[in-house]
Amino acid sequence: KSMKILVATEKPFAKKAVEGIREIVEEAGGELVLLEKYTDKAQLLEAVAEADALIVRSDKVTAEVIAAARRLRIVVRAGAGYDNVDLAAASERGIVVMNTPGQNSNAVAELAVALMIFMSRNRFTPGTGSEIQGKTLGIHAYGNVGRLVGRKGKALGMNVVAYDPFLSDPAVFEADGVRRVGSVEELYKTADFLSLHIPATAETKGSIGYDLLMSMPKGATLVNTARKEVIDEEGLMRALTEREDLKYVTDIAAGNQAALDEAFGKRVFATPKKMGAETAEANLNAGLAAARQIVDFFRTGNTRFQVNK
Ligand code: NAD
Repeated sequence: KSMKILVATEKPFAKKAVEGIREIVEEAGGELVLLEKYTDKAQLLEAVAEADALIVRSDKVTAEVIAAARRLRIVVRAGAGYDNVDLAAASERGIVVMNTPGQNSNAVAELAVALMIFMSRNRFTPGTGSEIQGKTLGIHAYGNVGRLVGRKGKALGMNVVAYDPFLSDPAVFEADGVRRVGSVEELYKTADFLSLHIPATAETKGSIGYDLLMSMPKGATLVNTARKEVIDEEGLMRALTEREDLKYVTDIAAGNQAALDEAFGKRVFATPKKMGAETAEANLNAGLAAARQIVDFFRTGNTRFQVNK
């Protein structure tokens, strides 16, 4: 019996990506099952029951979904952040969970740069703005997205500093001409623009708040293309209230975004929808990588991109 690979996407992949995924799956002798734009959890629970492998985007793979997936051996989140997958529930069943690191990073990095310039130029409304050249760009977490933002910042004439406690090799920073700092405090203290690229984990959730924001230089902007969960929203509100020079911009609206918009006008901005990775290129790359990783896993047992080891 051929392996069934379910692509379950509330927000579908581009057509070209689906065609590419189908080609990879069928060439490997598998069968592609598509569940797109589902509106009810029950549809996912039913579809997943027969699947050997599952490809999702931001779709929630909860313990309930995993319990319904009797044959499931692998879940691939086409994208970087995998906080939408219940890792503990998957691990308990021995199900491998992977992401597709690097495949959408450039899209996110370009958006981060765009948001910086957008805020520097009064959100594209009349008035005197300022330039990003010559300013200090702090990068919080120097992973796939952080590195690309760092390089783009350098190319735009910014002074780039970065902090990532899990990267012990200084060469990673040196290669990009980026100065490495040893603490979060040091990073925020120097950053005219602070671009967030930490994953949402138990450790990072709610970790960016009042104290860090208050330590930033005059006129600083916090750029969040990571996750809204990493922000302490009350702390953000308080810092923006006390410091009329601070700005906040994101592609992932805060829980209290309406209140922020109302209170701070032009100093805050959230895109109407999460859109960091929403490019044709990222969509295609992540989708194809997910399919290839699944085929490779069944063929050779390759678990290189497993996140629940
Ligand atoms: P990545 O795994 O390549 O890099 C993450 C980096 O964070 C790693 O270098 C790691 O060492 C570092 N890190 C982990 N915990 C940390 C901590 N407590 N303090 C400082 N650094 C820490 O991931 P990536 O591809 O660069 O993506 C980063 C995040 O961006 C993702 O987790 C995801 O949540 C978010 N993201 C958002 C969008 C979007 O559409 N806005 C798209 C892709 C990714």
